Amino acid sequence: MHADSLAALAAAIARDLDILGLPPRHWPAEVRAPDGAAALDVLVVGAGMCGIAAAAALMLKGVRNIAVLDAAAPGREGPWMTTARMATLRSPKHLPGIALGIPSLTFRAWFTARAGAAAWEALYKIGNADWQDYLSWLQHVLALPVRHGVTVQAVVPAGTLFQVATGEGVLHARHVVLATGREGAGGRLVPDLVDPALWPDRAAHAGEAIDFARLAGRRVAVLGANAAAFDNAAVALEAGAAAVDMYCRRAVLPQVNKSRGATNPGYFEGWSALPPAERWKLLVWLHDERSPPPHESVHRVLKHPGFRLHFSSAIAAARPSGGGVALDLPGGPARADFLIVATGFEVDLGRRPELAALVPHAALWRDAHPAPAGLERAELGRYPFLGPGFELTEKQPGACPALARVHVFNHAAHASMGPIASDIPGVSAAAGLLSTAIVRALFLADRDALQARLEAFAEPELESTPFFAPQVLPGRG
Ligand SMILES: Cc1cc2nc3c(=O)[nH]c(=O)nc-3n(C[C@H](O)[C@H](O)[C@H](O)COP(=O)(O)OP(=O)(O)OC[C@H]3O[C@@H](n4cnc5c(N)ncnc54)[C@H](O)[C@@H]3O)c2cc1C
Repeated sequence: MHADSLAALAAAIARDLDILGLPPRHWPAEVRAPDGAAALDVLVVGAGMCGIAAAAALMLKGVRNIAVLDAAAPGREGPWMTTARMATLRSPKHLPGIALGIPSLTFRAWFTARAGAAAWEALYKIGNADWQDYLSWLQHVLALPVRHGVTVQAVVPAGTLFQVATGEGVLHARHVVLATGREGAGGRLVPDLVDPALWPDRAAHAGEAIDFARLAGRRVAVLGANAAAFDNAAVALEAGAAAVDMYCRRAVLPQVNKSRGATNPGYFEGWSALPPAERWKLLVWLHDERSPPPHESVHRVLKHPGFRLHFSSAIAAARPSGGGVALDLPGGPARADFLIVATGFEVDLGRRPELAALVPHAALWRDAHPAPAGLERAELGRYPFLGPGFELTEKQPGACPALARVHVFNHAAHASMGPIASDIPGVSAAAGLLSTAIVRALFLADRDALQARLEAFAEPELESTPFFAPQVLPGRG
């Protein structure tokens, strides 16, 4: 029954696209790579949520000579089946997903086809595995050109192209979209106060693989009180940890997720239109407000008597001691057997080896628009300063014009473009902005070839009429 209804949904998608006349025929000019092969118009690095959205939006605009590469195996892209340890997505189920304005592409359409309308009504929030299955299904149903198990190792400008080194050899592309996720924007953030000597036996970052079975009967400390901190604490307790002590700098948890209040088309499409000084002010305000953990994650840990949350308890140092971890706290020393560092990810493109040839030339916010007094935030100053198509901009004009063809389509785009290339609510809007920008850039670059093609265009409109004059048609004069 599921196979039948999913086949019916695939047919509905084909019909919707047909009615809309999508996708248009491929139209950009052909550009040859040094080896004589056709260069890709766009290489999308990453086949997670944002990579799929980018590729789909480009195909629907007739940019069909593209490739999508992901280092992960099929079904293992992004965090959903690995380090996302919440019971369900944090987002509400009604979000359309990667619909790009087409109802049959929504999560709801897919879920209903697979599980039925009653299951959709009964669904509270989207399960991680369902979300991953939906993303994988999109790759198939839209026939996106995804190759798995291929890591992009270096993106190097080469004239009007990029030479891209991958685990499977070199390829050439005109534009590169970096849909590389939270880690691709920099990496896991581990504060200096945590001694690296704790790895791997006595500490892990919440974004790493963790063998929770090993924590049964042990005392676990958690640094931080964000969503991931609660989710990791919950999994440790469910795996039988004897105690989980969570250490939080603040005296109370943040109460309101302000970003959720900004999920409307105004913020999605308007953020980048704000003058830089206003964008910075808004970014700093949202950053300082912080987000609370979802209430579901809090209830999940509260089921366990071994859970304790320590407010106003900034850890000053965490280091190996005996067989465990010694913690310096405002109230005195404490001990644990294992430490989970739940301090999120940092944006720092300089940490990405694949971008080494580009990043030295790229303007960051701190270069392009140094923060006014009182609004300095070092961690935000490292975000790249992007143009309106998510493209990198130059620190020194003329030093690396190729940056205009590198589109940062991950969390690092937040400061410049708003929270759209990182979280589920804005992903379709982001893909729309990105694909429009790439279409415009390709059109400008190809205008001579397109003009020649237009001049050769010879569809005889009047052939069936008495006024047909073939001698004036292009190529027949
Ligand atoms: C634990 C967790 C829970 C989240 N929950 C929610 C939620 O409930 N709601 C919400 O709106 N947002 C949530 N988010 C935020 C956001 O939606 C996710 O981070 C989402 O995965 C972003 O999609 P993405 O495509 O940008 O990145 P990802 O899904 O991380 O995909 C990036 C892909 O790029 C690939 N890649 C990276 N570098 C390379 C390379 N050099 N070569 C080849 N491939 C590469 C990776 O293998 C990966 O598959 C969550 C984030 C995390 C970390």
